[in-house]
Amino acid sequence: MSKVEEFLTSEEELEIVQAIRQAERNTSGEIRVHIEKSTDISHYDRALEIFHSLKMFNTKQQNAVLIYLAVEDHKFVIYGDKGIDKVVPENFWKTTKNVMQQQFKLQQFKQGIVDGVLKAGKELKAHFPWQANDEDELPNEISKG
Ligand code: CA
Ligand code: CA
Repeated sequence: MSKVEEFLTSEEELEIVQAIRQAERNTSGEIRVHIEKSTDISHYDRALEIFHSLKMFNTKQQNAVLIYLAVEDHKFVIYGDKGIDKVVPENFWKTTKNVMQQQFKLQQFKQGIVDGVLKAGKELKAHFPWQANDEDELPNEISKG
């Protein structure tokens, strides 16, 4: 594959965006997905870099979470903001990582992201329930490159 755009069809992208909307109906947390081919730096550092470049630290409760994927490296990172780290147990993202890995092993790339987004929403709900005055603080569109 030559371009990161080719990893997902537009229908698949739409499904992921819908999963984000659905997840954010459960929680005040904000979920974003960033996809790129590969990176030269560590995947964790790159996730942090993307988190900042997307201004994801800019939520009221500091409860945004980025699902970062480097598709050619076969790596992904789930990075949650400080507000989440403060209240959740260690290994909080393990269950989300597991559901994603299950699908990726089966080469189900889109499904892995959809499942991960929905799982992240459910996990966040316990600590950051959706509230009536909720705002969509960060765009739900997939970010690329
Ligand atoms: Ca929100
Ligand atoms: Ca959002």
